[in-house]
Amino acid sequence: MPHKTFYIKTMGCQMNEYDSDFLAQSLINDGFSPTNNDNDADIILINTCTVRAKPEQKAFSLLGRMSDLKRKNPRLIMGVVGCLAQQKGHELLERFPQLDLVMGPREIGRIKEILGQIYADGEKIVATHLEPRPPHPVSCQGYFNGRVTGYLSIMEGCNNFCTYCIVPYVRGREISRSPEEIVNEAKNLISEGVKEITLLGQNVNSYRWEGMEKWNFVTLLREITKLDGLLRLRFTTSHPKDLSEELIQCFGDLDKLCPHIHLPFQAGSNSVLDRMKRGYTRERYIELIDKLRAVRSDIAITSDVMVGFPGETEQDFHMTLNLIKRVQFDSLFSFKYSDRKGTVAAKMDDKVDETDKSVRLSVLQNLQKKISLKKNWALEGKQLEVLVEGYSKKGGQISGRTGSNKIMNFTSNNNLIGRLVVVTVNCGLLNSLQGEMAPEE
Ligand code: SAM
Ligand code: SF4
Repeated sequence: MPHKTFYIKTMGCQMNEYDSDFLAQSLINDGFSPTNNDNDADIILINTCTVRAKPEQKAFSLLGRMSDLKRKNPRLIMGVVGCLAQQKGHELLERFPQLDLVMGPREIGRIKEILGQIYADGEKIVATHLEPRPPHPVSCQGYFNGRVTGYLSIMEGCNNFCTYCIVPYVRGREISRSPEEIVNEAKNLISEGVKEITLLGQNVNSYRWEGMEKWNFVTLLREITKLDGLLRLRFTTSHPKDLSEELIQCFGDLDKLCPHIHLPFQAGSNSVLDRMKRGYTRERYIELIDKLRAVRSDIAITSDVMVGFPGETEQDFHMTLNLIKRVQFDSLFSFKYSDRKGTVAAKMDDKVDETDKSVRLSVLQNLQKKISLKKNWALEGKQLEVLVEGYSKKGGQISGRTGSNKIMNFTSNNNLIGRLVVVTVNCGLLNSLQGEMAPEE
């Protein structure tokens, strides 16, 4: 095959970023070269998200724009991968005839074979089986060089079927990867210079492996924190219904485990939580937060919440605000509920008016802004350990993250990338901290 280039555009969550890295490494191993310019690529893959209406619309408009490139260069191979590809399948080929490939997340291990088929006979391919196991990791020497942080998927899919959520339909049933594969992949990341690993799964707490020995998420965490060269470990996402006492205790016991947990609560009203089929109550959620703080008082807590779930009353919404005030989250991802075709909630009556959803979202976000600011102000004057990742977005400053996952920007003339340094917080802002490095010994 003559030398060809590829361009991958990634939308959506960390899992998609991980999958895009997998695809990129597979393509490089197969002789393709990455390019940052979609105009001169021979292959374009768009890795999409369909979890809410908004990212889905974004993916559609990007596909429309990208289709023009194919009109200019008919030899270009254009593919959609990820959750939207899985959900829409053949429908995407009809709507965007410029596409050559539609590939669901469980099929990414077949990228080499599928591209070979497209190049050989020019046929369009739709690959959307949900049964395949997560593919064996590919390693491409040097791929992660220069990266301080890396993702590592420990499982694929989800069995929870929260009534609003499309994930189990587009990423399939939950399946864990073997501990051996995971530990080897972690070692590979570390050997490439990665200092901080985030373990990924839709519900990491339900990680299970039954081989010669039984593994659960806690045994896996303990094993990975033993790896030399790894400075920090994180994980996401945890489900409150499966958050065990043993896992909570890890925040007290494991030095490398960062003091931060992302624990989505989704709603503060028990009747909404029940109709979402979340499997916990607001009281249980608060109990978990109290236990986490008892083990590690400085733990940062972030979460996902949505407004306007079918049947959500003003009183339900106030229960959500009330829970936010009680917990005092460090930050929140907040969304307007949107129907996802095929889910149970999409068929529920009593949909909340779009204007009411917007008003509720803005009230909620204003409340959270005040809490986030207050939390960051409270850090002023404190010394925090920061893993330096690169340069700040506005430039001129060095940027890293605290263990609590807050962005810290500060000035230094030294090359500190990849190092843990102590920084004093000068100013707490809404989404970041501004600091000053303590003199090094
Ligand atoms: N597995 C994780 C969990 O259980 O929390 C997160 C899954 S989902 C990819 C990320 C977030 O999107 C969810 O926590 C939820 O807040 C939001 N979300 C999922 N479905 C949604 C929908 N139909 N409408 C609005 N937000 C939704
Ligand atoms: Fe979706 Fe619920 Fe599974 Fe999270 S736990 S991916 S919200 S079904």
